[in-house]
Formats: sequence, C-alpha cells, structure tokens
Amino acid sequence: MNVILLGAPGAGKGTQAIRLAAKYSLPHISTGDIFRANIKGETPIGKVAKSYIDKGQLVPDEVTVQIVKERLAQDDCKVGYLLDGFPRTVSQAEALAEFSKVDAVINIDVPLTKLLRRITGRRLCGKCGASYHIDTLSGKTECSKCGGELIQRADDNEATVANRLEVYEKQTAPLVEYYENAGVLITVDGDADIEKVFTDIVAKLG
Ligand code: ADP
Ligand code: ADP
Ligand code: ZN
Repeated sequence: MNVILLGAPGAGKGTQAIRLAAKYSLPHISTGDIFRANIKGETPIGKVAKSYIDKGQLVPDEVTVQIVKERLAQDDCKVGYLLDGFPRTVSQAEALAEFSKVDAVINIDVPLTKLLRRITGRRLCGKCGASYHIDTLSGKTECSKCGGELIQRADDNEATVANRLEVYEKQTAPLVEYYENAGVLITVDGDADIEKVFTDIVAKLG
C-alpha cells in the first residue's frame, strides 16, 4: 500500500505517520527528516536544504524529487510506503506519478489558526526523534521513551512559521484538489485528539 500524508505544517502528519507505520508495517519516509539528517551530517544536500528551510521556503523540486525517487527504490519500499511531507507541490506530485502509483492520500485537516501553537509548542527528542507538545509535557524536558533531551526544531519559530503557512496555502493546498480528482483523497478532521484522528484514518483506509 502506497500512502501519502498531506497536511499543513503542524497538522500532525509525523505523529500519525509513526502510528500508521507501526500498524501497517510500512516504512515511514519524511522528507523533512531526510533533510534534517543531511543538515546534521553537513552533506552537500544538507547545505542546500538548510538555506531554504531556515527561511521557511521549500527546497527546490529537483533536489527533493531525486531524494524521494532514490528512497522509494530501496528494498523496504517493495511492500509500500508512508510518505510524510512529500509531495508538497503539484509538480512534485506529477513527478511522483511517473515512478510510483499512489493508493491513498490522507489529508489531515486542521484550521490554520490552530497551527501556530502546534508548531511553536512542538518539541523533539534529540536522541530518538520522538515528538511532543509543551501543552502535554507538564514541564518535562526529557524524552519519556529514551531519556534524551527535548529540543525545538530550528525552523519552529514564529518568523518562519508565517512563511511556511503561506507556502502551504499557495503551493501545497492545491494538492487536495489534485488528489481528489485522482480519486484517492481521504480527508480526516485533524482538530481532534491524536487517538481519535488515528482511529478515523484507520477506519477510512480500511
Ligand atoms: P507535522 O508533521 O504535520 O508538521 P507533527 O506531527 O509534528 O506535525 O505535530 C505538530 C505538533 O502538534 C507536535 O507537537 C505534536 O505533538 C502536536 N500534535 C499532533 N497531532 C495533534 C493532535 N491531534 N492534537 C493536538 N496536538 C497534536
Ligand atoms: P512541517 O510539515 O512541520 O513543515 P517537515 O519536517 O515536513 O515539516 O519539513 C520541514 C521543511 O523541510 C519544510 O519547511 C521545507 O523547507 C522542507 N521540505 C520538507 N519536505 C519538502 C518537500 N516535499 N519539498 C520541498 N521542501 C520540503
Ligand atoms: Zn527519545
């Protein structure tokens, strides 16, 4: 099963992807995670990606599409995949269609007004990558899974968020109609608690 998670920054794509990957035994492929790993490793791709991510802009399609194409060609994707954060433009979706067939696109719908708090309150474990929110951490600064220190993503600040939401509206939101026309769109209300969103996705995926 080839599944895409679509949604604005902070909609809950990563949170749901981790759960869905475990339930359906599919590899979770996040372009954002791939870019952050490259930035950490100071690779040439990381250097390019950082200059865009820091400004809240999209990394150019040529770079992003190539990364995904290579990743989907790996053995673990033979059973399918869960793409988180790709495609983000119609041209990325068109490129993807040339090398892979998409079975379902889950559109996690969250009102724009709720996203700022979701993003600025997001905290990640620096060791295992687990994701948290300050609203439910009750002041804790360590990961409950591995004890690692919780950190804030460099691009999760108010200045960048405004840009990212604008980029989403202009460049990514048109994908909702694109995939609706392709007959593969599933929309879920993302403005509900994490478990309820998950149950809804599973019910609709069948
Ligand atoms: P995305 O990958 O779409 O950018 P995340 O999954 O990282 O979003 O979620 C953004 C933030 O919102 C995180 O801090 C996460 O813990 C929190 N979050 C995710 N889903 C929900 C939800 N249904 N209700 C409340 N907070 C959520
Ligand atoms: P979020 O969904 O919370 O915005 P991601 O981790 O998916 O975060 O992405 C972080 C950043 O990485 C994006 O703001 C963008 O700069 C870059 N990025 C991720 N995926 C793509 C993509 N498919 N195309 C272009 N840039 C991307
Ligand atoms: Zn951890």
